[in-house]
Amino acid sequence: MAIWNPWHGCHKISPGCANCYVYRRDESIGKDASIITKTGDYNLPLKKNRQREYKLTAADGVVYACMTSDFFLEEADEWRQDCWDMIRERRDLHFHIITKRIDRFEICKPDDWGEGWDNVTICSTCENQDRTDYRLPILLGLPLKHREVIAEPMLEEIDMEKYLATGLIEHVTCGGESGGVPEEQRKAAVPCQVRPCDFQWIKDVRRQCIRCGVPFTFKQTGAVFIKDGKTYYVKRSFQMSQARKSGYSYIPGMGLANAISYKLPGRDDLFAGLVRSKFRSRFHLSQKDKEYVREKGMDTIRSHAADFVEKRLSAENPENDGKQTPMRGHPVFLAQHACACCCRSCLEKWHHIPAGKELNREEQSYIVDVLMDWIGRETEKRNGRT
Ligand code: SF4
Ligand SMILES: [Zn+2]
Repeated sequence: MAIWNPWHGCHKISPGCANCYVYRRDESIGKDASIITKTGDYNLPLKKNRQREYKLTAADGVVYACMTSDFFLEEADEWRQDCWDMIRERRDLHFHIITKRIDRFEICKPDDWGEGWDNVTICSTCENQDRTDYRLPILLGLPLKHREVIAEPMLEEIDMEKYLATGLIEHVTCGGESGGVPEEQRKAAVPCQVRPCDFQWIKDVRRQCIRCGVPFTFKQTGAVFIKDGKTYYVKRSFQMSQARKSGYSYIPGMGLANAISYKLPGRDDLFAGLVRSKFRSRFHLSQKDKEYVREKGMDTIRSHAADFVEKRLSAENPENDGKQTPMRGHPVFLAQHACACCCRSCLEKWHHIPAGKELNREEQSYIVDVLMDWIGRETEKRNGRT
């Protein structure tokens, strides 16, 4: 990976900019990040070494452009054409441009852009729902060969599934807000109020990506990370490694999620939680369902449950995930809704079984056991009452 910063400095336009690291870093050395200047690396893609070879080669990997500014910044309007010329000349390199100003792309693109250039990826940021709903329709409507999305710092739960479902977004990255933990903040030249990131939000976008077959990267926890309702302060040096270690990045068909470690809930805790849930606790077997169970016998019902779990839930990315379990028609379907075993999202939320992995034999039999436990309890209830 290479970084090309043709200019430096920016102005804040979005909630995600509040703690912009360019500003923080500049302030710490007494510099004003709102002053926008060309850098010495302005023409880096064309720079050559003594052997008259390009300094940047394809072996350097993707070239990330404008990491200390925004490529589509108004103040850079007169410089951008040079950059497009360099990008055009270096077709052997791939340029990755992250922007909060996707709405300026149309007026900033070069005349010969056509349907897009193969060697350019445009990545739109979207830190909250409002910016997602504003920027992603624009991103999708532009003539681009490669589109990506980054939600960082992620500031709230974001639903971007309808945009991912277009199949036009190649990759999504999520992460919390970087910065220091309280003790690091005390020592920092420019402390900032780091905003928290909840792991639930990350997992939620990840599940949207899985359902749409879009690769997903969990890049960093940020300094203030909430997991299962508990707040963790993650030191700077661990923010990326912790995210990597969690295993929650996803590439379709790679089996990466098999490496995620998780703990199944205890049966008592699980059932106590399900009873507390208004939605889950409203499911019960009808008289007809109970008769069906009695007539078929528990062994047959168990084999039905095993079959449904295998066919509808166990694939890495089950077909129609979220809608694959009917609300009625078989006692096992009711058990699935009552026990939050209806789809991979519910399995992850309630049972901690990560989405994006094929369910192994143990996981499948755990689910079947839970369902049969619930069916057993429901039929006993009938016996108790009559
Ligand atoms: S657009 Fe990017 S570089 Fe510019 S102020 Fe916002 S976060 Fe900083
Ligand atoms: Zn569900």
